[in-house]
Amino acid sequence: MKLGVLALQGDVREHIAALNECGAEAQPVRTAAEIRSIDGLILPGGESTTIAKLARSFDLFDLISGRIKDGLPTYGSCAGMILLANELVDGAKGQETFGGLDVKVRRNAFGRQIDSFETDLDFAGIGSVHAVFIRAPWVETTDPRVEVLASVEIDGISHPVAVRQNHILATSFHPELTGDNRVHRYFVTELLRGVSTHS
Ligand code: GLN
Repeated sequence: MKLGVLALQGDVREHIAALNECGAEAQPVRTAAEIRSIDGLILPGGESTTIAKLARSFDLFDLISGRIKDGLPTYGSCAGMILLANELVDGAKGQETFGGLDVKVRRNAFGRQIDSFETDLDFAGIGSVHAVFIRAPWVETTDPRVEVLASVEIDGISHPVAVRQNHILATSFHPELTGDNRVHRYFVTELLRGVSTHS
């Protein structure tokens, strides 16, 4: 099984290290041939507008979007979550996403005061996870086909920050930065090896 981390911009190395720790082989991918050859994809944290623009200018955008929609197991963290959303709130003007997830995602959702923060979350199927948020999005609305795996409560309102829809997983936070590889392990065992009952 060959996994790729989209390497146009963002924290690519950290995701590769986390996947390797889970016993999965992973490489940075940035050409059409590499993207065609992989069995699973990670969209890293970084800057979603930049990643989308680079994908357009290298003529990779439709290939990536098509592969995700055709069932390629994909995990996006932070900017990666934004890139997987079918709809954005507060996106940059004309901002494009690869799509695949039937959710509306609010970009930079937590506001200036709490731009970056850390908290412990209860992640379904994993347990307590220490989560690092950096100018993070949240999921504003979900479709019934989308499973909410973890949420953050702010002013009594629960905001989903980890979701799954069949072969697609997205988190607002960055498990690749904490040295805890259980979310990557979840991706590898549940989404890539198809042992899940959710599909
Ligand atoms: N705010 C960034 C964006 O819109 C995401 C931040 C991150 O990935 N840490 O792409």
